Amino acid sequence: MSDYIPFYRPNMGKEEVESVTESIESGWLTTGKKVKEFQERFSDFIGVKHSLAVNSCTAGLHLLLVSAGIGEGDEVITTSMTFVSTVNVIEETGATAILADINPKTFNIDVEDIKNKITKNTKAIMPVHMAGQACKMNEIMEIAKEHDLYVFEDAAHAVWSKYDDEMIGSFTDGAAFSFYATKNLCTGEGGMVTTNNDELAEKIKINTLHGISKDVYDRYSKKGASWYYDVVTPGFKYNMPDINAAMGIEQLKKLDDMQMKRKKIAQKYNEAFKEIDGIQIPHVKDDIRHAWHLYIVLLDLDVLDINRDEFIEKLEENGIGSSVHFIPIHYHKYYRENYDYQRGDFPNTEYVFERNISLPFYPSMAEKEIETVISTVKTLIKDYSK
Ligand SMILES: *Cc1c(COP(=O)(O)O)cnc(C)c1O
Repeated sequence: MSDYIPFYRPNMGKEEVESVTESIESGWLTTGKKVKEFQERFSDFIGVKHSLAVNSCTAGLHLLLVSAGIGEGDEVITTSMTFVSTVNVIEETGATAILADINPKTFNIDVEDIKNKITKNTKAIMPVHMAGQACKMNEIMEIAKEHDLYVFEDAAHAVWSKYDDEMIGSFTDGAAFSFYATKNLCTGEGGMVTTNNDELAEKIKINTLHGISKDVYDRYSKKGASWYYDVVTPGFKYNMPDINAAMGIEQLKKLDDMQMKRKKIAQKYNEAFKEIDGIQIPHVKDDIRHAWHLYIVLLDLDVLDINRDEFIEKLEENGIGSSVHFIPIHYHKYYRENYDYQRGDFPNTEYVFERNISLPFYPSMAEKEIETVISTVKTLIKDYSK
């Protein structure tokens, strides 16, 4: 179908193409001056001391945990309503992932459940800012302070988010952003770690590139370049190439503009769906600035004669792509079997999972496409109302 509306379409322009071309033509393909520029611009944007570019948000989250010395015997609290990488990286350090339930309105980690899950082995809390809406950071920071825990944010959805007028990524121990293809700011693959902690930043830098104490750019580009390097820890290969940073620099320049477009589409959807029985629009708190990464609606299964999976099929039949964020962590085989989790363990997460749909939502959506999504959803709701 030619006028199919995909769930996601990238938002790349000639500026990104030119910047990437420049990067390729310069002959420097790996981490270099574009990465440096991107990091500096990102630090300015967030208002944070250190921004460290990496090749994914997953890598960034892993680096935060490892660099903070978290490992076997430790526990890290996060939610079951997240992309699996948040929890995989906890596993990879040897620590145990402790899942908490969510608030059924915001889909963010339930602060009371964090308190329930703290033990003497807890080392960190990893809140996930679902869809770009910040978690209750004051409360989370308070709990962390009281129990001497790290707060590392999964800020994959939260570039541009604010909590209480503060930029997400500027006030906790560390945050990891995602620049994956579908995210608000895109470098194809990529991510950024932010922190104000000098010592942690230094460790992350070293762990990003094999545990070598200086990065490639420093080694080969400075006067008196040396072939010598020293490995101080068995690190990873998580650095961002200049080609990706070239895209990131241009995307960051456009971010405000792209965010305004997202906000406008959200307003249109809200306006269209708010009075309709059968569908619940996103709940937006008033102490945050929403990054509007996803537009997630909940189906009211009590008044509908169709379930979520069928609704997605119907959308697809009508030429509209959609998605589900997320399949709960405790539904996945590995976590079912190794953690002995069962259905029923996280009632709010499960309630939301059974009802949620992410609608097409990106700056390059045409007016006509937005209207088509609205009218199709409205028609389906009407057709399948009990
Ligand atoms: C996309 C995403 C990630 C992973 O980001 P990558 O850059 O692909 O590693 C982590 N957490 C959440 C909540 C995400 O949506």
